[in-house]
Amino acid sequence: MINPENQPKHIILIGAGIMSATLGVLLKELNPHYRISIYERLDQIAAESSDAWNNAGTGHSAFCELNYTPETETGGVDIKKAVKIASSFEISKAFWAYLVKAGYFANPEAFINNIPHISFVWGEKNVAFLKARFEALVAHPLFRGMEYSEDREALNTWMPLVMHGRDPQEKVAATKVDIGTDINFGNLARVLFQHLCSLPRVEMHLMHEVRDLKKQEDGQWKLNVKNLLSKENNKVTADFVFIGAGGGALPLLEKSDIEEGRGYGGFPVSGQWLVCNNEEVIQQHNVKVYGKASVGAPPMSVPHLDTRLIDGKKALLFGPFAGFSTKFLKNGSFFDLPLSIELDNIIPMLSAGWHNLSLTRYLIQQATLSHEDRVEALREYFPAAQSEDWELAIAGQRVQVIKKDEEEGGVLEFGTEIIHAADGSIAALLGASPGASTSVAIMLELLEKCFPAEMQSKGWKKKLKQIIPLYTKPFKGKEKEWLDWRRYNNGVLHLSD
Ligand SMILES: Cc1cc2nc3c(=O)[nH]c(=O)nc-3n(C[C@H](O)[C@H](O)[C@H](O)COP(=O)(O)OP(=O)(O)OC[C@H]3O[C@@H](n4cnc5c(N)ncnc54)[C@H](O)[C@@H]3O)c2cc1C
Repeated sequence: MINPENQPKHIILIGAGIMSATLGVLLKELNPHYRISIYERLDQIAAESSDAWNNAGTGHSAFCELNYTPETETGGVDIKKAVKIASSFEISKAFWAYLVKAGYFANPEAFINNIPHISFVWGEKNVAFLKARFEALVAHPLFRGMEYSEDREALNTWMPLVMHGRDPQEKVAATKVDIGTDINFGNLARVLFQHLCSLPRVEMHLMHEVRDLKKQEDGQWKLNVKNLLSKENNKVTADFVFIGAGGGALPLLEKSDIEEGRGYGGFPVSGQWLVCNNEEVIQQHNVKVYGKASVGAPPMSVPHLDTRLIDGKKALLFGPFAGFSTKFLKNGSFFDLPLSIELDNIIPMLSAGWHNLSLTRYLIQQATLSHEDRVEALREYFPAAQSEDWELAIAGQRVQVIKKDEEEGGVLEFGTEIIHAADGSIAALLGASPGASTSVAIMLELLEKCFPAEMQSKGWKKKLKQIIPLYTKPFKGKEKEWLDWRRYNNGVLHLSD
């Protein structure tokens, strides 16, 4: 009998974004005998949410995102989520460092670079919150080195564009972490696929759309795949399917008809940026400045004035603004939302709508913004912004998960969710936050759910220890090891520490 760890399987990955790229490389490292086929409906790799211009490229490590540290009822700050995200990001960096060290890709700068992360607030109440957040976080080893200041001169050196022209009477404060990162997830997905496709028994099929999938009596999955160039329909079978189709995952999950996928719905929210076209302004900002979401706005709407490094060139973005479209993918169809409504998710979808009227109001308000309104929002972060220096660009599409709920009928979720069949033969990833930054931890969680015997095998355990040495070691009690490990990974990825 073959050990589960060495058993050859045919794995199908639907979609060529960062999630499939990560899962594919992990699986091939763990079992080189696997045959892996990737089906992507577009003619390019990572052209949807993972593309650099379609997301904010923030290496989410909870250094600057205020929505990861909610205020408690007693006025304190809860840092649990921030610690989880910061450790998940370390797991991602460890995996990328392992791949660089193994010689699979030469230039980490092509996808990851240091850009300091700043949280910036104004007003008494927000300043008090930021101070409490700083005190709670800086005591934790993963956030050591975070700086706090209310001093306008210091803040001016950190972020001159943000401070110049600001009301001198206004109370302001900021925190800064120099080891924050900017990531080009599109380039990262491309280098991961380039490496994956150089390995035996791996095939990439661009311009191939998965239209349907059904479980066979023998336990295998049969997929109906349309070749969008030749218009041919092909049937392919697999032992394991990952629906890594981003916004396109929900319709495919519904088609798979697995019990665990019942009752899920999705609500699309598109993103938009103001992109700066004035080189002189772009050169004056060198940080990512995250603020506080306005009351009633969803967590993903936190405004930020963001330096980006895209293909070696500096860019300056402000946003995101929300747009409404019924498409689930940027390159999707206007019928995506109506066609996703089924008997088993109509009640959850209606109740989620009813219980989230503030979100509905927010989306209507956002959809009616003019260019001047958007520049006015930008001036809260960059008071001297000139309207003609900024253009609107359309970012990626997010599909927020709507889940059945016993009490409320349906709830809107802002996180990421893995839905998998009980037998582990199929899994889908829904939702988009904290997203690509934590892709490695998310895919490891998927492996725990869908490959439990293999994950317990000696071979996989040994390999995982080699790839991500502290994966199974909780942070508590291992602080020194984690920090040494972070220093090592930062060194390999040419990042500062
Ligand atoms: C506005 C915005 C800002 C964001 N900012 C950040 C950030 O700062 N940091 C961060 O970490 N994350 C961020 N995210 C989230 C991040 O972009 C996503 O989590 C990540 O890119 C998702 O990767 P994916 O591989 O699941 O999906 P995608 O990159 O969307 O890939 C899915 C692929 O599946 C293909 N596909 C779909 N349907 C089919 C089908 N039927 N057959 C074949 N192929 C199909 C698509 O064409 C696409 O190429 C942001 C997202 C948005 C929208």
